[in-house]
Amino acid sequence: MSIFTKIIDGEIPCYKVAEDNNFIAFLDINPNAKGHTLVVPKKEENKLFDLSKEEYLSLMDFSYRVAKALEKAVDCKRVCMSVIGLEVPHVHVHLVPTNAMADMQFTKKEKLTNEEFVALANKISENF
Ligand code: 5GP
Repeated sequence: MSIFTKIIDGEIPCYKVAEDNNFIAFLDINPNAKGHTLVVPKKEENKLFDLSKEEYLSLMDFSYRVAKALEKAVDCKRVCMSVIGLEVPHVHVHLVPTNAMADMQFTKKEKLTNEEFVALANKISENF
């Protein structure tokens, strides 16, 4: 069972941004930038292209809606998207409010307090 399935099942807490029957979005715990969000299918699959085309398109649709909320909630040049999965083998889309290329290199990390995470998650959620 992946760490993200544990989050989906409520065994591990998260800063939730959005949810429906098939997807959940929550803040990355070690963010590249403020508002870095992960969009995760509830069905545990390893790689993006393990998904059926229909599941893939549904994930993109949900990610689009989360990205729109992020654009409203977090000041940035643009929201960028990446799919990696080398650390957590459960499909997830990274949505990162980006101001510079370094924000998408997954090396420079932001430290946020619990209160900052809560406030960010609430603000994005309100715009979803
Ligand atoms: P990837 O698998 O795409 O290389 O990276 C996995 C991402 O998940 C990382 O950005 C990491 O910070 C994030 N992550 C790993 N474990 C947790 C967790 O328990 N909670 C949350 N919210 N994010 C996590």
